[in-house]
Amino acid sequence: MRFSDVIGQEAVKQQLRRLLKEDRMPHALLFAGPEGTGKLPMAFALAQRLLCTSPTPEGDACGTCSGCRMAAKLAHPDLHCVFPVFKPAGQSSGAVSDNFLKEWREQIAETPYFDRSTWLARIGVENQQSLINVAEARNILAKLVNRSSQGGRRVVVVWLAEQMNAEAANKLLKILEEPPFGTVFILTSDHPERMLATILSRTQRIDFKPLPETEMAAALERQCGLQPDDAKAVAHAAGGNFIKALQGVTVHADTAQFFDLFVLLMRLCYMRKIKDLHEWSEQLAGWGRERQKAFLDYAQRMVRENFMYNFHRPELNYMNRAEADFAVRFARFINERNVIGIMDELAAAQRDIEANVNPRMVFFDFTLKMIVLLIQ
Ligand SMILES: [Zn+2]
Repeated sequence: MRFSDVIGQEAVKQQLRRLLKEDRMPHALLFAGPEGTGKLPMAFALAQRLLCTSPTPEGDACGTCSGCRMAAKLAHPDLHCVFPVFKPAGQSSGAVSDNFLKEWREQIAETPYFDRSTWLARIGVENQQSLINVAEARNILAKLVNRSSQGGRRVVVVWLAEQMNAEAANKLLKILEEPPFGTVFILTSDHPERMLATILSRTQRIDFKPLPETEMAAALERQCGLQPDDAKAVAHAAGGNFIKALQGVTVHADTAQFFDLFVLLMRLCYMRKIKDLHEWSEQLAGWGRERQKAFLDYAQRMVRENFMYNFHRPELNYMNRAEADFAVRFARFINERNVIGIMDELAAAQRDIEANVNPRMVFFDFTLKMIVLLIQ
């Protein structure tokens, strides 16, 4: 990963380039700031830059030397990663990050923008406590006893440093203060206020600010292929947190599909195409329960929005462009005679899905009721 792969944070990049250029790189850095602002990607970019053997004149890693290639794959012998793991039941010594390197590399290859719960789900321990334990601290100390394998810099990246327990933190105090020559620690934390003061005082803190919407929107267009309008909407809802934006892309894809299915349902009901309505029901019946419930939520929102649309109070309407275009023609079909009936049927369908009633029956039954309700 290079600085150019990290979204925004130009001030931080400039500060790091300056420290590198003036050869004043501290031996322990703390990247602090809200979740989803790119602290971990920046840590990897800096690590690769430190391990690069022929940096560009602009101060970035070259991306092609063997140091860069190994660092990019997180396979550089002088790049060590520490992250929260769990203590396997029945084992006296805790697990260490090295046990989960394969999963770690897979996650970073997918995206370096992810949160703790995504990580714990990946290593299959969603419901367990995670921490950076003293076994981890001992492991790091043991690795740093030897000289660096390539004879140059060594970098230790610690993700979510606030998850270090006191024992582990105390074990690392001395080496953070006086690391072996050429070693740089990069700690990242969403919650530096939860870290020991003795650790904080041994690191140079660099603050990360929430990402501006324009930078996130541009990244969403580039990385996820979103259209400019969609990227803007997703970025707006993410509040400066790119992890949240990436989660929003998934929701957004669902919304687009839900919209198409809602429009199709209304057309088929209006035209009384029973056979097609049966097919429509079968399609939804094949989904998982959570998704079925999410669609029914969406349908309720659309009914509410279209009813509201009739009052010509745009400031009270919350629809995207496609939904608003549809409302121009459709809203008049949702009126004071049928709105309560339709909402009741949607709520009843949701309760039935929740109660494990056969979804084929629930959805087909619902479409038949919609045919009657829609013409009222
Ligand atoms: Zn290089």
